[in-house]
Amino acid sequence: MWRQYIRKVEPYTPGEQPDSDNVIKLNTNENPYPPCEGVKRVLSTFDTDTLRKYPDPNVKALRTAIADYYNLSMENVFVGVGSDDVIAMCYMTFFNSPKPILFPDITYSFYDVWADEFRVPYKTKALDDEYRIVASDYAEDNGGIIIPNPNAPTGIAEGKDFFTEILNNNPDSIVIIDEAYVDFGAESVIDLIGEYENLIVVRTFSKSRSLAGSRIGFALGNAEAVRALHDVKYSFNSYTMDRITIELGVEAIKDDEYFRECVSKIICTKKQTQDSLRNLGFEVFESAANFLLVKPKGISAEELYTQLKNRGIFVRYFNKPRLSDYLRITIGTDEEMDKLTEALQSILEAVQ
Ligand code: PMP
Repeated sequence: MWRQYIRKVEPYTPGEQPDSDNVIKLNTNENPYPPCEGVKRVLSTFDTDTLRKYPDPNVKALRTAIADYYNLSMENVFVGVGSDDVIAMCYMTFFNSPKPILFPDITYSFYDVWADEFRVPYKTKALDDEYRIVASDYAEDNGGIIIPNPNAPTGIAEGKDFFTEILNNNPDSIVIIDEAYVDFGAESVIDLIGEYENLIVVRTFSKSRSLAGSRIGFALGNAEAVRALHDVKYSFNSYTMDRITIELGVEAIKDDEYFRECVSKIICTKKQTQDSLRNLGFEVFESAANFLLVKPKGISAEELYTQLKNRGIFVRYFNKPRLSDYLRITIGTDEEMDKLTEALQSILEAVQ
């Protein structure tokens, strides 16, 4: 009988994490560059005796460092174990209306999983023919809104006016903007937080700060909303961020110079990759993220995904409506992208 009381959910499927280091991994939007020097220093000098004690449940050091970076106060900052954890907390805290929450039909594929997990009703809004989000679709009655900017997996970004339109149309709903990839070329809405008390901006250290392995994410919002997030979090698990990770996060946000250097290298490599793929006849979306959504020519996306994998190059294939003709390719180092282009050339020559 116990089986009938199991919560049934269709889990999110993350990109493959191959065991071997001997592959080119362009499938989960990680940063190809290592974390900053300060992160390495923490790991080599960390006082292990302190692990005897629980970490600070208020995560004051990291929240203060993040607040300082964005000219906000610690009361505006909520941190968690990656932005996945932060967004899950947001669902629990803010999405309790009987009305459906809204998000795009083609977007981060965790949004509907959380909705099912937390039993939040939801409705998806179709991207237009150019795979853009339509702001006016988010004007109907709803229980909350979540949209990534840039959107994933298209990489297409919208500007601040687009989000002010959505915020102006929704004073009674929490609007979450998931800015996981914003540092790679999109405009942030963080400076709208003072103006819109219903705006929550979610960020991660996994992409632009090279710390996917440490799991650090955060949300910025007005103090009352952040307090509500903390109440839910402390009713669930108080000590989610460990002592080491907290220190790593502080170092990563402090080293702005290194951060900017890595981001600009990735943006430069993205432009070059975009050109090489277009030269191969691929359709490439204009991307403000650290990945490209591309439609190959002369071979199906699924076949190309398999052939690249056989050559030790991992990219992401989504077997979903309107995406099954595309591959999502993370921007790696120049050298990795050159190897990708060479592999593509050789695969395409063989099928012609
Ligand atoms: N939002 C979007 C749009 C993402 O693509 C990802 C990465 N899978 C996340 C959030 C979560 O990233 P993390 O938990 O590593 O911060």
